[in-house]
This record gives sequence, structure tokens and C-alpha cells, in this order.
Amino acid sequence: MSEPVLPDISEQSLATTLEIISDGIWDWNALTGYVYRSPGWYTMLGYEIDSLENNVFTWESVVHKDDYDRVMTHFEDYISGKSPVYKCEYRCFTNSGDYIWIEDRGRIVKWTNDGKVARMIGAHRDINAEKILLEQSKQESLSLQKLIDIRTNELNTLNIQLTQKIHEVERLATIDPVTSLANRYFFEQRIEAEVARTKRFYEPLSLIIIDIDHFKQINDQFGHATGDSVLTALANVILQNIREIDVAARWGGDELMIILPNTVLTDAADLAEKLRVLVGKLDVKLGITGFTCSFGVAQYSAGEASKGFTIRADAALYEAKESGRNLVSVSN
Ligand code: GH3
Ligand code: MG
Repeated sequence: MSEPVLPDISEQSLATTLEIISDGIWDWNALTGYVYRSPGWYTMLGYEIDSLENNVFTWESVVHKDDYDRVMTHFEDYISGKSPVYKCEYRCFTNSGDYIWIEDRGRIVKWTNDGKVARMIGAHRDINAEKILLEQSKQESLSLQKLIDIRTNELNTLNIQLTQKIHEVERLATIDPVTSLANRYFFEQRIEAEVARTKRFYEPLSLIIIDIDHFKQINDQFGHATGDSVLTALANVILQNIREIDVAARWGGDELMIILPNTVLTDAADLAEKLRVLVGKLDVKLGITGFTCSFGVAQYSAGEASKGFTIRADAALYEAKESGRNLVSVSN
């Protein structure tokens, strides 16, 4: 293969080329200090062509003060051989006193015999529009990020509030407002679950049903509010005497339930008897010498449905009522 034929570029044709390209070309003769700057260099910065001194001070005077040290350090690193390239972005003052961003690239094209720079040629390219766009998109992405952060925070707060509301609604949906015991809905869920557990593990399960004796009379004689206090007092006695695994619920009206997991009939009956005695000693309000309750107790028997189990406990309660009230009756 033959060697490629390089075009013969005379100084004259080079000068013509430099005149027509819009980038700002500079040519520094380090031996004389003379700097040639192309028409494009002047035009880019808004100066009359050839209106400035052809020396390096002209360059130094147009470099933005805040970029000056960085640019000079980079330039020195290149001409001293510390850096393999000279390529730098910085701001240059224009004739109008404003500044534009330029990209400056240069290369040493001639060295002295003792290895110093003799001639260096470079070019300024106007990158102001690119820089402004870049800066704008940075700002936009920053403000977008800010907006996302604000919205995320708002959503997190709403999420926490929503979770709190859900817990509150769940709590209200399962609690009886008068006694603060579990309500019937919760009781029905728990009795199903406990019966399922008993079937699975063959553990004993007992149930106590409690009904206030002559509650209508209490209401009639002392008013509905006193009736409510009686209900609350009864609920408190129950809560103070059951375990954490037990579930006390208000079935409705003056009827309360206690689910006793892992409890045999005799223990459940003992608890009912204890509650019966404690209730008898309660002094709810002046004028009431006391009130009593009747208790029905049953232990879950194998294969039984939860409904049948509840009905048996209820039947025991009915028996206690029939036998004179203020009694514990056990379903065998
Ligand atoms: P018994 O000994 O046979 O149980 O007689 P009782 O009067 O208690 O009769 P029953 O259990 O059928 O009556 C329940 C009464 O409870 C009827 C109603 O007036 C009253 N009651 C139901 N819910 C509430 C309540 O939330 N507050 C009050 N104060 N009374 C209620
Ligand atoms: Mg009653």
C-alpha cells in the first residue's frame, strides 16, 4: 500500500481557513510571546477583529476571575508535562461585560531543543447554550426531586394517619362502647377460632355466660345511666379476674360471655362462682345494696359446633335463672 498523500497546507491557506471557521483559533509562539487570534475568536467574544493586544495578557484578561486559578493550573500542568492534554471549560468575559462559557483545547506543536514549549495552537468553542441547557435541566431535576420528596413526605404522613384510622375503626368495630369489652361480632369470631383450636389440639375449652338478675328493675328504679354503671362494674370485675388468653365479651343487653381456652369445666365453674361472690359485694352506687348475676357454664365437647356449644352454656344459664338466680349452673 502506498503512503497517504497529505495536503500541502501553506501558511496562506491556513490563514484563510482560520478566517472562515467560527471557532476561535489561537496560536501562541512561546519564544516571542506573540499570540495570533482568528476572527472567530474575536467574534465569539464580541470584539472587533484584531482589536486586542496579541499577547497572553489578553487571554488572562478575558478569563472569568472565578475560573482563573483552575484554568491556569490546568494550562501549567499541560505545558509542564504533568497532564497529557489541555482541555478546559471556563467562562470568558465578552465585550459587553457579560460572560459566555467556552471550551478551550490546545496542543503543543513545537518544542525547543531543551524540551520547552515553543508553539502551541488551540481553539475556543462556544458552549454557552449547552451549559445553560445543562444548568436548567439540573435545576429542573433538582426541583422535580424536591417536589417528589415533598409529595413522598405528604404521602407517608397520610399513610400513617390512614393506618391509625384503620386501627381505630378496627378497634371500634370490635369493642362494646358501654363496657369496653369485646362486642358480639368479635366474640363470634373468637369462639369459632377457639373451637377450631380445640379440635386441632384436643385442649379443653370452657364458656361462661353471665346475665344480670332483674336488670330491668335496676334500670326502672335507678335509671338507665345507673344501669350502665352496673354493666361497667360487672365488666371490670370480670376483666380483673380473667387471664390474658381469656376473652370477655358483651353478647348483648345484660348478657356477657367469657371464653376460657385451655380450661376444664370445674375450673370454669370455680371462676364463675368467684365472680358471683365478687359481684354480690359490689357497691355500685348509693341506694343500691347490690346486684346479682346468674351464670351458665359449659365445657366444649368433642365434635360439637360452636353454636351448639353456646346454646348449651345458655341452657345452663336458663337453669340458674329458673332455680332462683344468683347461681352458677353447669352444663354436663
Ligand atoms: P332476668 O333476671 O330474668 O335476666 O331479668 P332482667 O330484668 O335482667 O331481664 P333481661 O335480662 O331480659 O333484661 C335485660 C334488660 O337489659 C333489658 C334492657 O332494659 C336492659 N338493657 C339492655 N341493654 C342495656 C344497656 O346498654 N344499658 C342499660 N342500662 N340497660 C340495658
Ligand atoms: Mg338479665
